[in-house]
Amino acid sequence: MAHGHGADTEFGKDPKYLIPVKQAPFYGIHRRMRCSTICAGLEVNSENQALTAEGEPIEGLYVIGNCAGNFYGGVDYPLDIYGLSLGRCVSAGYMTGRALAQK
Ligand SMILES: Cc1cc2nc3c(=O)[nH]c(=O)nc-3n(C[C@H](O)[C@H](O)[C@H](O)COP(=O)(O)OP(=O)(O)OC[C@H]3O[C@@H](n4cnc5c(N)ncnc54)[C@H](O)[C@@H]3O)c2cc1C
Repeated sequence: MAHGHGADTEFGKDPKYLIPVKQAPFYGIHRRMRCSTICAGLEVNSENQALTAEGEPIEGLYVIGNCAGNFYGGVDYPLDIYGLSLGRCVSAGYMTGRALAQK
């Protein structure tokens, strides 16, 4: 670990972003690891029915939110569409609940 040498040997941050913190008082906050969204999950069809390995819907088993997979089209969460995770979780829950209530 190097401090005050113009290089971040611990995290490799570009030196142009290193700003000296010299003036007290100093404050710290406790940060925890968190998971904002999940890109994998159980495979579902357009009605949010869970699918078997063969792609057949499992009667009576519905999956929504982060538990449902095959939504983002890959292993990455696209950051160019704001609210994508919450949007899909809420709308899938609403649509599935409404469809089931009408059955
Ligand atoms: C810090 C942070 C920032 C985020 N920012 C954004 C953002 O800007 N835009 C965006 O689109 N998404 C954002 N997300 C992601 C989004 O919030 C989540 O992907 C989404 O809320 C997940 O919804 P969900 O219904 O799948 O799960 P959750 O919202 O986690 O709901 C699961 C629920 O199940 C309950 N539960 C768990 N176990 C049990 C049990 N055994 N019995 C009964 N209930 C149970 C939990 O209490 C919880 O209420 C963010 C997430 C985090 C953590």
